[in-house]
Amino acid sequence: MKQNIQLYNTISRKKELFEPLNAPNVGMYVCGPTVYSDVHLGNCRTFISFDLIFRYLKYSGYKVRYVRNITDAGHLEGDRDEGDDKFAKRAKLEQLEPMEIVQKYTLGFHDVLRMFNTLPPSIEPTATGHIIEQIEMVKVIMENGYAYEVDGTIYFDVDKYSKKYNYTILTNRNLEDMLANTRELGGQDDKKGRLDFALWIKAKPETLMQWQSPWGMGFPGWHIECSAMSAKYLGQEFDIHGGGMDLAATHHTNEIAQSEACSQHQPAKYWMHTNMLTVNGTRMSKSAGNGFLPGELFTGNHPLLRKGYSPMTVKFFMLQAHYRSTLDFSNDALDASEKGFRRLMNSVSLLPKLSVSEQSDVEIDPLRVNCENAMNDDFNSPVVIAELFEASRIINTVYDGTLKISATELDKLKTLMNDFVFEVFGLKDEDTSNTELNEVLDMVIDLRKEAKENKDYATSDKIRVGLQNIGIQLKDSKEGTTWSKS
Ligand code: AMP
Ligand code: ZN
Repeated sequence: MKQNIQLYNTISRKKELFEPLNAPNVGMYVCGPTVYSDVHLGNCRTFISFDLIFRYLKYSGYKVRYVRNITDAGHLEGDRDEGDDKFAKRAKLEQLEPMEIVQKYTLGFHDVLRMFNTLPPSIEPTATGHIIEQIEMVKVIMENGYAYEVDGTIYFDVDKYSKKYNYTILTNRNLEDMLANTRELGGQDDKKGRLDFALWIKAKPETLMQWQSPWGMGFPGWHIECSAMSAKYLGQEFDIHGGGMDLAATHHTNEIAQSEACSQHQPAKYWMHTNMLTVNGTRMSKSAGNGFLPGELFTGNHPLLRKGYSPMTVKFFMLQAHYRSTLDFSNDALDASEKGFRRLMNSVSLLPKLSVSEQSDVEIDPLRVNCENAMNDDFNSPVVIAELFEASRIINTVYDGTLKISATELDKLKTLMNDFVFEVFGLKDEDTSNTELNEVLDMVIDLRKEAKENKDYATSDKIRVGLQNIGIQLKDSKEGTTWSKS
């Protein structure tokens, strides 16, 4: 492959050379959204971060099968198998079928990610579409002796598992401390151990989403879907498993336990976790009520916002932080990103207008090497952005005639910008009205020319003044008429 990528593996707690199990093929699984409500900007940060990783792996020559699931069943409100089913609660609230809720928020999720110009995953499996696979997996875990049934509910036996495997391998927490910090089992608890978690949950008669199983009617626990679907589409051992950091302690810890209890080995070679988007230092989350919806951000319709910001400004803001750093949301930071993104896009739009010289004052190869080195260093997007700003500066100085560039170097500069701005970062110029505006203005300028040729100065002046009033300045010269925004 073209690149030696170092990535931070949560499980070894260090950067490692990325060596896929079956290069050039790469299997990557990322925990997707729970589609019982709108995704907030924090969720988007995680998916944008993995989109960057997906894109860079492809840029590096890998053939990536990227699986990102949709959780559409079996999610109870509490982390430890308590509370109401989130879908049922929402369905009652909105007076819809649970599957209407799923459809509504899945479509909304796709719309938002499309606005952020992320690539669709290779496979997007749903939990409800894989009930059989989940039941099969639970059966194997039971046969292997790591799960037990209590009245139609199946629990994973953490105590038994930890005798052979390391339950806290991902977080390095101390099992004794974890036990001490977990609530003691009460009289109404069915499970044997405090850390045991449900693989399959017995349905109540009123449960809206329930399926037939060897243990009666029920629904899957929170974690089993990802173990079952990753194994189905990527095999029992695959390359990268990812998600937000908040998933490591419970969801991913339990996923590893389930997969290992089933197949006797770790499911993923590399575990990658993205850091959180915060608001005034607090994690953005649905439950904390500080979750900006992307639509609120784009329109500015939120009390914490001074104005609206475009999807690419928001994406640029996210890429300006490394995926393992926290990123705090603020109007000032977004204002700065808006300016930075515009600066970058303005210079990209100058590229076709640059004239070339015999000699070149600049060399582009070192810039590409710096961009690749930064991405190879655990996908360090902020460092790439600094390099792209340097490229911007070069473009602007060539444009104003202070710097000379040869045809070969200009070609390299164009490819560099195309590769990193559009292909790897997935940014796009949002000023889509520009092409239409250009065409309309060309037409209006032609009409004015005709009017002038016919000595119809009233009309030609009317056009000039009319455009001026909407902020467009015409400039006549020997070569013709050009326009600019005033
Ligand atoms: P959920 O729909 O809550 O299961 O979350 C979907 C994804 O978004 C998971 O990978 C979470 O870890 C991630 N996530 C949730 N909150 C945040 C946040 N504030 N910042 C970044 N990622 C988040
Ligand atoms: Zn998952």
